[in-house]
Amino acid sequence: MAVKIIEEVKDMLPKGSEISNISFEGANIVLYTNNKEFFLDNKGVIRGIVGNIKKRVELRADPAMPLTIEKAEAEIRKIVPEGAGELNIIFDPQRSQVVIEAEKPGVAIGKAGETLKEIKKKTFWVPLVKRIPSIRSKLIENIRQVLYQNDDYRKKFLNKIGERIYGPKRKQGKTSWSRVNFLGASRQVGRSCFLLETDESKVLMDCGINVAAKDEDQYPYLSELNIEELDAVVLSHAHLDHCGLIPLLFKYGYRGPVYCTAPTRDVAALLCLDLIGISQKEAKKALYGSVDIKEMVKHTVILNYEEVTDIAPDIRLTFYNAGHTLGSSLCHFHIGEGLHNFLYSGDFNYETSNLLAPANTKYPRLETLMMEGTYGSKDDVLATRHESEDYLLGIIRSTIERGGKVLMPVLGVGRSQEVLVIVERAIREGKIPNIPVFVQGMVWDVTAIHTAYPDFFNNKVRQAIFHRNENPFLSKIFKHVGSQKEMKQVLEETGPCIILATSGMMTGGSSVEYFKNLAENNKNSLILTSYQGEGSLGRRLQQGEKEIMFTEGSKQVPLKVKMDIYSIHGFTGHSDRNQLMNFVKHLNPKPRKVIVVHGEQSKVLDLASSIHKAHRIETIAPKNLETIRLV
Ligand SMILES: [Zn+2]
Repeated sequence: MAVKIIEEVKDMLPKGSEISNISFEGANIVLYTNNKEFFLDNKGVIRGIVGNIKKRVELRADPAMPLTIEKAEAEIRKIVPEGAGELNIIFDPQRSQVVIEAEKPGVAIGKAGETLKEIKKKTFWVPLVKRIPSIRSKLIENIRQVLYQNDDYRKKFLNKIGERIYGPKRKQGKTSWSRVNFLGASRQVGRSCFLLETDESKVLMDCGINVAAKDEDQYPYLSELNIEELDAVVLSHAHLDHCGLIPLLFKYGYRGPVYCTAPTRDVAALLCLDLIGISQKEAKKALYGSVDIKEMVKHTVILNYEEVTDIAPDIRLTFYNAGHTLGSSLCHFHIGEGLHNFLYSGDFNYETSNLLAPANTKYPRLETLMMEGTYGSKDDVLATRHESEDYLLGIIRSTIERGGKVLMPVLGVGRSQEVLVIVERAIREGKIPNIPVFVQGMVWDVTAIHTAYPDFFNNKVRQAIFHRNENPFLSKIFKHVGSQKEMKQVLEETGPCIILATSGMMTGGSSVEYFKNLAENNKNSLILTSYQGEGSLGRRLQQGEKEIMFTEGSKQVPLKVKMDIYSIHGFTGHSDRNQLMNFVKHLNPKPRKVIVVHGEQSKVLDLASSIHKAHRIETIAPKNLETIRLV
């Protein structure tokens, strides 16, 4: 396909650069050369082109040029210093790239990238370095395998995205309007799904499932969506109420890109696999299969924070740290060359947590903000993290003293890892006795993913890991529980301990299994730390229900709840009311309009009216199926 931008790039190339091919990788432009000297030293030509067209441009060797895989691998192993630890070397011959997975990526890269330069010079492959997670997880390895095994497909797929972005527009002329359709999570929490539309493009923001709801209330209004017209899916973060139905889009035939950060991709795949696993256990029909999750992984395009990229002919996306979970993002959309700037907050925390930095408030431009309002009402002022920590440690201490076990139902991602960090520190500092902390299946895998992306932690945690070699997640007190047999051992053969298990709202998963075994003993404690959706078992326990009916075989069996039930809200990954208000106050620049979603009706209405009063700007809390025009 003749695309204008490629012709422009060709015109900027000097004679003798021997470019054999120019293709797209998403919004990036990749040049392949047959000229060895030009490949090793292009004398600023590429920088000049980048400056000119303001797009990312990369130069690689024509696939015929590099050393054979065997020779290159031997050479790379010779060049990379031993201090880099174990290496996995994976070649992508289609793209003349080699991925070097190392235990210590910094060592593999070398001072100012000198090792990489050496590899390039000796082998003509372009090296990319990734971190081998300190905790091994079969699932992460599988995810990486899916990507490596589909190199060929990915090359074509990424080129197709570029052709759409830079190719002829569907509509001639400038983008003149833009609107958001609310397909879920409006005046409610759960099933987040919003369609950002212009006269040229359609972008879906999140596509989640509300696991606490019943039947069709679980799903967003997907029938309003024409999957074939979608240009992109943008995923703010890996929680099921935001990512849980993306594989369903692939089941229905979507084959376009899913933009997210690397940790979000990995955790989202895990959560979706876990979701279909739970359906299977409950003998319910799963919504989609693992093949659909694989398709999702195959079609993800990874972005780092603050990396600007075109995702449609008239839409540019930038992710910013949201402080909610590892890799969670506020999504900034620059629409139609300055026509409008729209920020979708996803879920965010405007506070420094034990793991993450607070949500970003500074943007190049901003006209409309669409924000969450989970804790948006005036009484949603939560205890501080410090108070919550003391409260948590107090409950753990008294439960241990009476010989009981502490069960903490957690969302696989976010709070679980924060709780691990808090408990590890408390034990190290002698604030609570040294007891084992059992980490059930999925929580362990998510923790393993955390060890693969330490760059996403806040400064303090990063310093500890990189400069003092203290990685809290590698502590010996954490024990992985994988099988039913191991779970039985925890319940029957172990004394006081802490158990972290999913799901956080106790809508299924091992947290419910543990609960059934622990509930009738008054020595034990249950600590709820995440948001409890209406109708969930967690919410019912919070409201004080003391008898719960469970289906066993064909009959209903009552369970008497005698264990202590506690709720700690301060560990939430969401901003509380004050933080929501402060976030808006500190936004720079100030938005002209604020749309509040992702909160129960009374809360989003309260927040919208308070923001209006405080800032004299237009605010609105739309209902599902409504549409709001931005321009
Ligand atoms: Zn979330």
